[in-house]
Amino acid sequence: MALGRGCAGIRVQARQVPDLAVTYYRSLMDTQPHARHLTWEQLRADLRTYRAAAGSKMDRQHSCPLWSPVQLRPGCTRSSAAVLYVSALVLDYDTQAEIGAALAQWAGLEAVAYTTWSHSPAAPRCRVVLPLATSIAGSIWADVYARATEHLQPPLAPDRQCKDPSRAYFVPAVGCGGLHRSRYQPGSLLDLRPTAAAVQQAQEAHRQAQEARRATQRQRRGQTIPSTTGLAREAQEALRHDPSVRQALAERVGAAVVESAGSRKARGAPCPSCGRGAVWWAVDGTGWARCNHRNSCGYEASLYDYGATQ
Ligand SMILES: [Zn+2]
Repeated sequence: MALGRGCAGIRVQARQVPDLAVTYYRSLMDTQPHARHLTWEQLRADLRTYRAAAGSKMDRQHSCPLWSPVQLRPGCTRSSAAVLYVSALVLDYDTQAEIGAALAQWAGLEAVAYTTWSHSPAAPRCRVVLPLATSIAGSIWADVYARATEHLQPPLAPDRQCKDPSRAYFVPAVGCGGLHRSRYQPGSLLDLRPTAAAVQQAQEAHRQAQEARRATQRQRRGQTIPSTTGLAREAQEALRHDPSVRQALAERVGAAVVESAGSRKARGAPCPSCGRGAVWWAVDGTGWARCNHRNSCGYEASLYDYGATQ
């Protein structure tokens, strides 16, 4: 059991599993969710019930239902951004994984595993499902998934694509491969709250570092945070979208307006950062003012902010 070493998850002693948010889809082509709240016993039973799904892979994509251990935002269709919470960890073992070996990676934990559609003795494939002690927010799920599975290395490593919180899985189906089977492993509940806390901490540190970098850049350029009220906003809008206003700024600061390939550019405007006449912008466009000396200076600002320096 490698959980203690590589994975930040911990076990919660067996107790009543909370109801699980599960979303079903009629087929792979259907993004319209059908939301359910199931007991773990109900979901477990569903994941051990095989449906018929004969025909080609494409036939199955049009006919076989899928499930996803998530709650979506009300009124949303299937997408990563729509996932509010994830209620179970799902692992697809697509490379030579026997059910027993895959489950052994999660020994001691409450889980269900089932062979997937194309499973065969020559190419064993299975899916392991672990209900969570507490649901995890969809916004951090990809990072939580990556951390919770980083200790699993080939040849027995699950498909990393499953980190997508909106990922949906075919229900157990026969019609290809076989013989199929499922297995229930009783145990403690997987608790990913410590992993989620570590992810949130890392994301917050990253956000703060980015913010500090931006603040330093603003300071270096002597910029102020633009006001977005009243007249200022109108001026901002005009400088962003109106070619005549963008040209008027060029004339005011003494820049040349040159035409090339059917669009006009303001050139040679004074740079508030390096002092050279090297700032330019598209008159017929919406881009920012930028200093030509990208490496030695790097000044760039909206025309509104640029205009305030002149
Ligand atoms: Zn410059």
